[in-house]
Amino acid sequence: MRVRIRRCRSALSKTGIPGADFCVNPYLGCSHRCVYCYATFMLRYTRIEEPWGSFVEAKINLPELLRQERRQGRVILGTVCDPYQPVEARFQLSRQVLEILGGFGFSVEILTKSDLVLRDIDLMQRHPSISVELTLTTLDERVRAFFEPGAPPAVRRLKAAEELVRAGIPTTVFFGPVLPYFSDSEAKMTELLQAIARTGVRRVLIDRFNYLRHKLPGFRSRLQKEFPLALQSFVLLTERPDEYTSALRERALRVLKKVGLEGGVVF
Ligand code: SF4
Repeated sequence: MRVRIRRCRSALSKTGIPGADFCVNPYLGCSHRCVYCYATFMLRYTRIEEPWGSFVEAKINLPELLRQERRQGRVILGTVCDPYQPVEARFQLSRQVLEILGGFGFSVEILTKSDLVLRDIDLMQRHPSISVELTLTTLDERVRAFFEPGAPPAVRRLKAAEELVRAGIPTTVFFGPVLPYFSDSEAKMTELLQAIARTGVRRVLIDRFNYLRHKLPGFRSRLQKEFPLALQSFVLLTERPDEYTSALRERALRVLKKVGLEGGVVF
């Protein structure tokens, strides 16, 4: 993984995400290397020719710009690249973002897959308008290693959720994308949601697997090698998406209710 610094021209960007005014992304590139990563579109806006997942650039002047921008509104930290991926331990840009925005009284939601977020519990306790949304897609470590090879195992994320709740931080789990075959059956969803409920988290948002068409052929051949039995479920998703999605929505809402969690589906 090549790590380097870059300078950005602004810190906050306007966002169309419901309930938020701005987003902030301290890193360009992500070492979690999720197979389904939707952030690869960022390459179109840069001159970088290296493959997505092989580099991370730290926006070193972002805290300085953030102090000057002082706009008001609700901010999401990490809409594109994970703000608590491993390089954050070195650069501490996300920590600085929380210090600055929290100090200005902004409401900030952190989106991450990483338990490194626990390092900043002290800031979250000081600024109660900061909340966390932690992503989880499977409890199976082999499946996690295939789909999210650079991200922390599920067990660490569950532990992080538990510690956040214990520290009084508003915490949501984002169960998404629901992986066809691996985590979309009633039994698998129930198992995952029960594990989440045991952490003390009460709110779960669920999203479907959104595939990028141009990535499908390569993805299918990797799946064929490692999990041939899963292939048929992905074929159903891609060839009969409406049927797949409406059945998944119904199942997800039923399991949420059965396990006694709040939240809902976002698809
Ligand atoms: S954590 Fe998010 S940005 Fe990083 S690789 Fe995974 S999907 Fe992409």
